[in-house]
Amino acid sequence: MKRAAATLAILAAVGAFGCRERRAPGPTPPAAAASGNGHNVLLITIDTLRADHLGIYGYRRPTSPRIDALGRAGTVFERAYTAWPKTRGSMVIMLTGRRPSRNGYSKTHPMLLGFNPTLASVLKDAGYHTAALVDNPNLATQNGYAKGFDSYRETWEEGSLATEADRMRAITDGGIAFLRAASPDRPFFLWLHYVNPHAPYTPPAPFDRAFLDAAAGGGPRLKPVAGFHGGVHKVWAVRGQDRLGYYAAQYDGEIATVDQEVGRLMEALRASAAGKKTVMVLTSDHGESLGEHDYYFDHGEDLFEPSLAVPLTVLVPSGKAGVRSRVFASTLDVMPTVLDAVKVSYPPELAGISLLGETMGKTSAGRERLFAQNDRNLVATWDHRFKIVGSPTDEGMRYALYDRATDPGETRDVSKARPADLEAQRRVLETFTVASEREWAQTRRLLGNAPTGTKLSPEACQKLESLGYVVAECSGVSP
Ligand SMILES: [Zn+2]
Repeated sequence: MKRAAATLAILAAVGAFGCRERRAPGPTPPAAAASGNGHNVLLITIDTLRADHLGIYGYRRPTSPRIDALGRAGTVFERAYTAWPKTRGSMVIMLTGRRPSRNGYSKTHPMLLGFNPTLASVLKDAGYHTAALVDNPNLATQNGYAKGFDSYRETWEEGSLATEADRMRAITDGGIAFLRAASPDRPFFLWLHYVNPHAPYTPPAPFDRAFLDAAAGGGPRLKPVAGFHGGVHKVWAVRGQDRLGYYAAQYDGEIATVDQEVGRLMEALRASAAGKKTVMVLTSDHGESLGEHDYYFDHGEDLFEPSLAVPLTVLVPSGKAGVRSRVFASTLDVMPTVLDAVKVSYPPELAGISLLGETMGKTSAGRERLFAQNDRNLVATWDHRFKIVGSPTDEGMRYALYDRATDPGETRDVSKARPADLEAQRRVLETFTVASEREWAQTRRLLGNAPTGTKLSPEACQKLESLGYVVAECSGVSP
């Protein structure tokens, strides 16, 4: 049951578009007594970056030499996944280390709710100087994501930054300025969020032509369509370009563009006093569907691998280089891993686990399975063999089963051919759902009068569309 038009409707960022005083990262505030081992933390999140388009994940094009170098210096998690393949839900989960049933994220509250401790607030309480530079309107201060940050810069709001490339460079420049100004006497937590390679795929030169190879001229012909199914969205269709390969090459061009920015940051970090005592995590909020399952240049409507698999590299000062871990890793694990690495106590009710042991080269069996959910109330779980996806219908949940060992593309529903495996996976999913409901019963009591998402204003629509977003709620396309 696909929707005619995929949406960024969850962008309902009411109030996120007004003017307000912006707090740019400035000099380190007066020192407070810090707990923990004093290591700094740098978190880089690259929006919409699917793992398999990076060199360290085996991609054929040289999209990511600098990210690859960062991965080789530390640990690459080969099986890392988001628990929610859309920006808002994913980042709430990553920054709280909690599932929605604990952090309260839902369609009625599509935001980071204030009752949650966050990675930033926990580190701030531990004496850290905390700063963020983010380039995605979903992550607006009004949506709660600034909690715990001493400064929170939202580049998408800055009129002087005319293009995506300008905003991207501003994130890096701001990050570099922060690193240079950082006091050696007080640890910091710096979070940088790049919106690229989120659509539209419009890399600046030379990356607009960097990958126009034979593959870029191949793939099926795409006709312009009104939504994300069956072709290229009409507002992003490029005259004379109707091959899937062309658009995938431009997506890759955007990755290469961000990769350069990561390189600039790494150089600045290495040259700074903080270089040797910084825990670094690079990951993404979700992947991107590049035509798989007839879903083009978007993410979050389904729970297939392209939207869920993300890169995750972790570098810790005392860690080993060149580690490749095959345990199941989740963006839920970012918070416990970072707090473990800097020896700061966890807040309660974290759903993730620390992956620090892996970065020291101590291999473990890891968890048996992972779960994912989305804005359409789909729910999935997978182990190293099977994946089950539950989709709500008028007649109740409908289940599909995929054998990932023989069908990594998850294209053949084997639920009828393998009834025993279906039943085993369905039971796991139901147990998860029941446990979630039990947690929701407690969490709802905390929601109280928390703000809720409401409809986008015409001004908000205009702003988002000027940034290249396609929002069904704005265009009048029924979801
Ligand atoms: Zn995103």
